[in-house]
Amino acid sequence: MRLGQRMKIADGVEMLEIEMDFMGNRSAIHPTLFYDDEHAVLVDVGMPGHWEDVRSAMARAGVPADRLDAVILTHQDIDHIGGIQDVLNAASRPIDVYAHAEDQPYIEGHRQPIKLSEERFAPVLAQLPEDARRKFLDLIAHPPSAKVTKVVHGGEVLPWFGGIEVIFTPGHTPGHISLYHIPSRTIIAGDATVSQGGKVLGPMPQATPDLPRALESLKQFSRYDVENLVCYHGGLCKERIREQLEALAGQAG
Ligand SMILES: [Zn+2]
Repeated sequence: MRLGQRMKIADGVEMLEIEMDFMGNRSAIHPTLFYDDEHAVLVDVGMPGHWEDVRSAMARAGVPADRLDAVILTHQDIDHIGGIQDVLNAASRPIDVYAHAEDQPYIEGHRQPIKLSEERFAPVLAQLPEDARRKFLDLIAHPPSAKVTKVVHGGEVLPWFGGIEVIFTPGHTPGHISLYHIPSRTIIAGDATVSQGGKVLGPMPQATPDLPRALESLKQFSRYDVENLVCYHGGLCKERIREQLEALAGQAG
């Protein structure tokens, strides 16, 4: 798949692929789009400045931005919520923002996002050219934020597109959620898992403050009949998903 493309997972479910350049490291991230002829819901919105790429990937799926009814944020990290204000501005009417109660204060700007600190990025910041460093320091000082209009706790089934269940999967952040789309048997894992060449891996340890809890959270995935697993970093996995998830959950204490 070429960067900037999209991948159809099932009718009305598309995995988008957006190129990310994070302090000189290039990779791809994968928001998910649910849609029908009248409604659309976007799961995670990319970095600040990504909105045009997200919007064109949506357009290629035939979904104009003003069809969006809601955005679901899997968690507070900058690569997931960065474009939120652009999305809200592009909508033709107020749209709902869904997130977990534990991450709500960070997303709303009442608390500094847990991984967005000068300290944490000090070694990288020191290597950046002056203008890039200033830009990043400005991002740390003024992180993107938005009001969470619908707070979730896990266990809810959102009655859209045949049913989307919210799974509370803390560890990577305190309020991380994953989603299960019932008709297509798809787990949208956010950063609860990452993938590499079809192999499912646990969350990135360096970006997961509570790794034991994150691994414990993965045990919940074995309750679901899973055909597709969408990792925000690494993309879609289809091969032996249940087996791979069970092996990962087995790493928890
Ligand atoms: Zn991420």
